Amino acid sequence: MNCARLPLAAAICVALTLPAALRAQSAQTTPAATAPNAIYAPLPGLDRGAMDTAADPCADFYRYACGNFSKLHPLPPDRPYFDEITNLREYNTQVLYAILKQAAATHAAPGSDQQKIGGYYASCMDTAAIEKKGLAVLQPQLDEIAALKSKAGLTPLIAREQKLQTGALFEIGSQQDFKNANEEIAVVDQGGLGLPEKDYYLRADNKSVQTRKEYVQHLVNLLKLMGEPTDKAANDAAAVMAFETSLAQASMSAVDRRQPSNMYHVMTVQQLAADLPLLNVPQLLTESGFPPVASANVASPEFFKALQSTLQQTDLETIKTYLRVRLVDSESMRLPKAFDDEHFNFYGRQLLGTLQQQPRYKRCVASTDSALGEVLGKSYVAQYFAGDSKAKTLQLVNQIEVAMREDLNQIAWMSPQTKAKAEEKLSLVANKIGYPAKWRDYSKLLIVSGDAMGNSFRAREFDLAYELNKIGKPVDRNEWEMTPPTVNAYYDPSMNDINFPAGFLQPPFYDRSASSATNFGHIGSVVGHELTHAFDDQGRQFDGHGNLVDWWTASDAKHFEQRTSCLVTQYGDLTAVDSLHVNGKLTLGENTADNGGLRLAFMAFMAQAAADHINLQQKSDGFTPLQRLFLGWAQNWCASTRPAFVRYLVQTDPHSPDRIRANAVLMNMPEFGQAFGCKKGQPMVPAKICRVW
Ligand SMILES: [Zn+2]
Repeated sequence: MNCARLPLAAAICVALTLPAALRAQSAQTTPAATAPNAIYAPLPGLDRGAMDTAADPCADFYRYACGNFSKLHPLPPDRPYFDEITNLREYNTQVLYAILKQAAATHAAPGSDQQKIGGYYASCMDTAAIEKKGLAVLQPQLDEIAALKSKAGLTPLIAREQKLQTGALFEIGSQQDFKNANEEIAVVDQGGLGLPEKDYYLRADNKSVQTRKEYVQHLVNLLKLMGEPTDKAANDAAAVMAFETSLAQASMSAVDRRQPSNMYHVMTVQQLAADLPLLNVPQLLTESGFPPVASANVASPEFFKALQSTLQQTDLETIKTYLRVRLVDSESMRLPKAFDDEHFNFYGRQLLGTLQQQPRYKRCVASTDSALGEVLGKSYVAQYFAGDSKAKTLQLVNQIEVAMREDLNQIAWMSPQTKAKAEEKLSLVANKIGYPAKWRDYSKLLIVSGDAMGNSFRAREFDLAYELNKIGKPVDRNEWEMTPPTVNAYYDPSMNDINFPAGFLQPPFYDRSASSATNFGHIGSVVGHELTHAFDDQGRQFDGHGNLVDWWTASDAKHFEQRTSCLVTQYGDLTAVDSLHVNGKLTLGENTADNGGLRLAFMAFMAQAAADHINLQQKSDGFTPLQRLFLGWAQNWCASTRPAFVRYLVQTDPHSPDRIRANAVLMNMPEFGQAFGCKKGQPMVPAKICRVW
């Protein structure tokens, strides 16, 4: 599963995950996967080699902490960026690869866990069978689309694409009701774009114009691969682009989507049907697999109104071409190499600046994790999760929570009534560490040897059915939105829980051989980050039970907003790449969490240092404990990144770019300047600082 697949902005990751439109991709050119390499050993908690000690820590701490990282880890040609998180992901990929290779070789009993993961992986790797099948598996759907004679017949075709999760037109699913977190309700949301986000269709700068040209060429190439002559492909691609542009115009922006009330519009099915008479909405819901529902959260109502007029104004042939394109492109990885290469050429090379496709085995590992996450995760945890890291992490989480309680007590700008509510919310945060208490049941999912695309479709249908089946039932608070091997973490405001998958609890983030100061800087700051999300611009709008309820006094809310607006301006003034600035509003939640996270880790460490009589002046390895804590924090973000990718991130990702992430938080903490003997007025110790928590 993927952070971005959640219905709304519900889960908030610490690290980047690609958005839905790019998920199926990550294509490849090198025919197959040879032996995995061993270069991705976990990094140490304090990575001396990555540092540039000749740099001045008070001028640019990121350079001091991470200046040699790129030399040690030259950007791999198959990656748009590389950082400590990527390194651990690569390491986990090798671990999962070993599990899958063995499962594929064992000829396990049909229907067993080993047969499912081994069969899925082996079929994905079987490029000879994929090449031979060509478009055959898609042919029945393609024929159905071709046979369509009028728009009146669109509904079943769109329902079919929804079931197969091709990303056509809009997204469907289930979510916790914002206003009643104990209930799961139906949700429909905007979607349908081939480019990552609405502004890609609308911005007028040269780079955006060029990206659109390349995207249209990608559509042309794809249509030609599907058998269209060049002239027709060019006309059809332009028409699809115009169609998608009108969907983009009707879409809500990423910044507007950060406001939960903008994303909550429970409507009856009849109301939605009245907005979208061109489709048969009740039939659409039933055939997509929804249980009988009277209402749904229409997350972006303007989009669905505009969808009606867009479908009305667009000729049937264009809609049919669009549906074919979405269907085929969503399965490019399981189509002949020409399709796979074409997908990579646009989404990997042109959009993200990646030079080479990832080897196929890595993509098949990722694809198996995505399709059968909790089956593969079960094997992963049994073989590789060091059990005691769960207890250690829980202990650390408790220390961070104590720090947060103390922080809430101390702050002067919040009234006692709001403080009491905040403390209640904090006491209700659930801590989920490692893996689910109860594993998901995959017994009804059929995995067939040699049928890569069939397996993919069955897995997608199975997953959607699982989501839709929750509607109307009590919420299962043991559920996870990330698979156990995932190197990431999230806070979910409707669940009011923080989630740390097993895959993350390894060096350098949690390193049992490192000092506690280093671990507080690494994983402690991430725990603090997730916990602070409960009190960022989005999280603060939900109460301890996960309900969207305003528990703030008007004056406290005003103080909070004054403080966050300081961050909006501070980050918005910083340049990410070329002349492109960070979007201070889009990144506000993450920046709030980063600033709060390190402060909580600092406070928790100071409490431990006092209890354990740690000498804060004593250097070991050349650094005092606090210096190691700040180095641990900054090294979380050591990265090499292609400029094209930074551009993509700034436009789509709610996290600030790594250098800014590392430095800005330290600039806001006077304790950092003291630890490194910096003087006021030096770049890392500015006169004006921001603080929310
Ligand atoms: Zn976050």
